Amino acid sequence: MDTQSPPKWHSLPTSEVKKLLKTSLENGLSQEEVQARRERYGPNELETGSKTSSLKILLSQFDDLMIWVLIVAALISGLVLREFLDATAIMIILILNAILGFAQEFKAEKAMEALKKLAAPTAKAIRDGREEMTPAHEIVPGDLIRLEAGDSIPADARLVECQTFSTQEAALTGESQSIEKTCQEMLEQNVLLADRKNMVYAGTLVTTGRSLALVTATGPASEMGQIAALLGAKEEKTPLQLELKDVGKKITLLCLAVVVIVFIAGISRGYSVAIMFLAAVSLAVAAIPEGLPAIITVSLALGVQNMAKKHAVVRKLHAVETLGSTSVICSDKTGTLTQNKMAVKRVYFGNRLWELSPENTLIDPDSREEVSLNLNPLLKIAALCNDARKTSSGKMLGDPTETALISAGESSGLSKEELEKTDPRIAEVPFNSDRKRMSTIHRSNSSYLVLVKGAPEQMLSCCSKILLQEEQTLSEEERDAILEVDSKLAQSGFRNLAFAYKELPEMPPEMTPEEVEKDLVFVGLLGLTDPPRPEVAEAIQTCRKAHINVAMITGDHKLTAEAIAKEIGLMDGRKVVTGTELEQMALEDLEKEVTEIAVFARVSPKDKIKIVKAFRERGFIVGMTGDGINDAPAVKMADIGISMGKVGTDVTREASDLVLTDDNFATIVVAVREGRIIFDNIKKFILFLLSCNISEVSIVFLAMLLGLPLPLFPVQILWINLVTDGLPALALGVDPPDPHLMVRSPRPRKEGILPRAKQKQILWQGLLLTSGALASFVFSYFWLKTSLNMARTVAFTTLVLIQLLHSLNFRSERNSLFSSASLANKYLLVAIFGSVLLQLGVVYFPFARPIFHTLPLGGQEWLVIGASCILPIVAIDLIKQWQAKQT
Ligand code: ATP
Repeated sequence: MDTQSPPKWHSLPTSEVKKLLKTSLENGLSQEEVQARRERYGPNELETGSKTSSLKILLSQFDDLMIWVLIVAALISGLVLREFLDATAIMIILILNAILGFAQEFKAEKAMEALKKLAAPTAKAIRDGREEMTPAHEIVPGDLIRLEAGDSIPADARLVECQTFSTQEAALTGESQSIEKTCQEMLEQNVLLADRKNMVYAGTLVTTGRSLALVTATGPASEMGQIAALLGAKEEKTPLQLELKDVGKKITLLCLAVVVIVFIAGISRGYSVAIMFLAAVSLAVAAIPEGLPAIITVSLALGVQNMAKKHAVVRKLHAVETLGSTSVICSDKTGTLTQNKMAVKRVYFGNRLWELSPENTLIDPDSREEVSLNLNPLLKIAALCNDARKTSSGKMLGDPTETALISAGESSGLSKEELEKTDPRIAEVPFNSDRKRMSTIHRSNSSYLVLVKGAPEQMLSCCSKILLQEEQTLSEEERDAILEVDSKLAQSGFRNLAFAYKELPEMPPEMTPEEVEKDLVFVGLLGLTDPPRPEVAEAIQTCRKAHINVAMITGDHKLTAEAIAKEIGLMDGRKVVTGTELEQMALEDLEKEVTEIAVFARVSPKDKIKIVKAFRERGFIVGMTGDGINDAPAVKMADIGISMGKVGTDVTREASDLVLTDDNFATIVVAVREGRIIFDNIKKFILFLLSCNISEVSIVFLAMLLGLPLPLFPVQILWINLVTDGLPALALGVDPPDPHLMVRSPRPRKEGILPRAKQKQILWQGLLLTSGALASFVFSYFWLKTSLNMARTVAFTTLVLIQLLHSLNFRSERNSLFSSASLANKYLLVAIFGSVLLQLGVVYFPFARPIFHTLPLGGQEWLVIGASCILPIVAIDLIKQWQAKQT
């Protein structure tokens, strides 16, 4: 194959395509060939622009005007004013700061890369004659792939076999209408991309039907790859990151204003321009929270990794923040609240209801005796009008409802493969959740068979006859009897399907789905069980305590849904509404009633949009699950779109923010909890960092305003910033959750990370910290008459220790700092201990003293430090507890 000028695949017959790609239309490629081609063509991945290199991250640490001003200031003070020690110390601290920032950003970068891998899509490839799920990035040119409705197409490919197959190529061509595809070759060579009806393209979606296709181009060589290379990938910022950018800007401006005042005040108080310049710039470097965005990314990304371990894969980082404020979860029933382990347990056939025992024998429910009855007419439809299939290794692939039907047929000796040999499928009207039925057309001897299965009420309206000993007209009594059995089974939680057929002497050239599915002969019903997941009842209880509303949205029968809802404790005195009732309700009425509804039954995917709208209008933050292709719009519209990793379609997965790899409702609740933890922790370290920054700026500011000597040297300011911004802030980022986490109401939609109350809190806490440190300085210098440098050492040490103690305040919003809650975060304790040792080193190590202008502290100084630390910390603690009681 010549990769330089690729053949015009659309204009070649499939035999030629196969020859050029050196592959087989039956067995696909061999595993060895796949390996060889993977090496030759590289992974099937789009080039997402250049990755951020480590060097780039390191250099970006110095991508800040203030840092350069400080470096120049230090150089001047070193070279011109001969303050070598100061200059070196400032340089060393700046380097340490850069290393810390680098480590955080590097971690963030790695975590983001890992995230991309988590959400990697898969594809169905046939290799060595066996169909397997494989990561989409492992697809190579020549691979034979299977595509089904809802799949995202992994690579450019030429269709070689298809049935009523259409795709949506908006991502590539902007055309949002589905395009019908064929596998015929096209005679003309120069056809526009959008008109190549026998080709499919990477990144586009299958909307209906099934097909087999041969991969012609992967990764950067694909049409999408060529566009992606032009565009590059854009990293999306979360609302929190945007808010912080905004807050950061405001803080920077404020700091700069303060710093200018400090500078002017210092000079007018007689300090040299050099020292005041250094002090002012050090203050600016310390107070401007330039490291915050990286720490936030690390927190979000680590949280996401943690969630992935618990089966919740976050596709978009902003979802982590929204998860924490989710106030209603709308969940599908089948497979999410239930186990999706379906089994046929009831049979309605020949106008009578039978039970199917675990051993697959038919039981008369009245006499409890075994009966022998030929169910073949019913089970044949169940097996043939069915898209599930068995792989060569015996594994069932497909929708659990359908695999259960195949198993039921097999236990009566009917094999789908054998039946398909005599009655091959030639056309189909696929299942979708709006019509709630599907049809297949088969050639059977010299005539044609239409086989239909679907929801009983919908099916009955298509039937005019019933199969008993022979075909008879379906009487009204029989209709009523069938509906009654359907309701009775549904009330006990059964999921029912009706089966019907008709014979066509010949196949009309064109038939609408309505024509296919009319005048059918009703054959019977099958009732399937699908028990609830055991962990769901508890998860619903957790939601109730956490003030999170839960509603079930299902395509299933009203009574089936209600029975399951009762079993898992979801009803809670609320009611069930059907899709038909919903359709008649105006949006405003639904909005009023929506919290009174526990179950939305027999709804179609478009109803989900109405439900999301109603909840959103009421101010809820909506989590909405979906699996089928038609669920994608509602999933996209929800604040948190949730898709299924196991049974879901790629289309819905791509529209979603969160993928449940175990399809389990309980996992959503776990993710919400994690979302709350992450948001809490981010809030903790932001509040901590900003209140510390305020204390650093305001101590110098106030001293200058009050006409006091400069209380801290520039190098000391930088050191405080390094010690507190470093380990304690990181440790708060992994703080264990508050025990009240899941009994609190969700965070309101509009509440950002720094609402007014929190801004005030930062301010008064920062000022209290300052008052402690400033008091220690004043007391030492004026009362104890220590030297100025000793008083500075006291203020310096007080400010470090008071900030470290203050970090413990954030462990709990209500519990006292002097309670056992303070001991729960081991990382924080280690961080505090380590930072205290560093501070002692700076004060006592003889070689460190000249660098930091410190003097060894004696007993009376420690008394002053102790009192100056304890008083403000106790005050902050008391105010915090008092405020917690008010709310
Ligand atoms: P949920 O939204 O909770 O996952 P669901 O999976 O039961 O609900 P649908 O898949 O839309 O919802 O099914 C709705 C109804 O359609 C079912 O009650 C059943 O009667 C019928 N049905 C389900 N699967 C099939 C199928 N593969 N073929 C024909 N009819 C089906």
